[in-house]
Amino acid sequence: MKILVSEVGPRDGLQNVAATMPTAAKKAWIDALVAAGCREIEVGSFVPATLIPQLADTAEIVRHALTHAGLTVAVLVPNRRGAADALAAGAHKLTLPLSVSETHSLANLRKTHPQVIEEARAIAAMIADMPVARRPHFEGSLSTVFGCTLEGAIADSTIQRLAGQLMAAGCDEVGLSDTTGYATPNEVRRLVRLVRAEAGDAAVSGLHLHNTRGLGLANVVAGLDVGITTFDASMGGLGGCPFAPGASGNIVTEDLVFMLEAMGYDTGISIERLAAARDVLAAALPGEPLYGFVADAGLPKGFRPGVASAAA
Ligand code: ZN
Repeated sequence: MKILVSEVGPRDGLQNVAATMPTAAKKAWIDALVAAGCREIEVGSFVPATLIPQLADTAEIVRHALTHAGLTVAVLVPNRRGAADALAAGAHKLTLPLSVSETHSLANLRKTHPQVIEEARAIAAMIADMPVARRPHFEGSLSTVFGCTLEGAIADSTIQRLAGQLMAAGCDEVGLSDTTGYATPNEVRRLVRLVRAEAGDAAVSGLHLHNTRGLGLANVVAGLDVGITTFDASMGGLGGCPFAPGASGNIVTEDLVFMLEAMGYDTGISIERLAAARDVLAAALPGEPLYGFVADAGLPKGFRPGVASAAA
């Protein structure tokens, strides 16, 4: 069975490191990720350069990524303005974050829930105006869905209502994002089922998990249990975790691919070539810590990718 590992390092990783990676180095890194077999990469975010200068070159990066046939070029958009830029650049997939914690939403995007839903509606309308063949996939991502550092747990009823409103606004899909690293395996299974009950089974296929408290891969297994087929991850856990020095924030791509392949899933990604891409990344961000157990320990002797052991 195929599982899609969506590489978010060039967006989620780079926006969380202090240094700005030169545009040419970003292109070289993306080329190396594609060479390793990555089929979807979140290459940037259409936010004002004053807010996230590290991603100011996103339009150029999108244009470069589009030269790779077969690659899904994904971007994050905070609002309709960013979405207009993303559509002009030709991105294949747009993700609009909606923090289910309204306190977090106001702090981060300075928008209430109804205001974010209104942005989703406006973006869906822009997409609907495009020729069918050029319409990108539009995902609404429920962030802080496993809990918020400001509000704690968010009521199930709020999560379901917002998932339903995103779909009604015109999203193709609703994703679940563990922004704070609060997720546990039981909560992953429970919340995926909860959101599916509102948005529909087919509309919930992806998880954005963090490894803040060491449960990243355990949460992936829980996601697999309930039929999730797309997992976000960042090469080298790039970006780190501001709350836990030495711990990665995003799930480490190399470790995720290793686990999935060891379980018999087909990621289409070569672990050896990922290591080469990691070298490109490390050279482009000297001094930036990169994480990952597989990168440190190497592959087990005789490891066969995509072949599960007998007693699965
Ligand atoms: Zn993340």
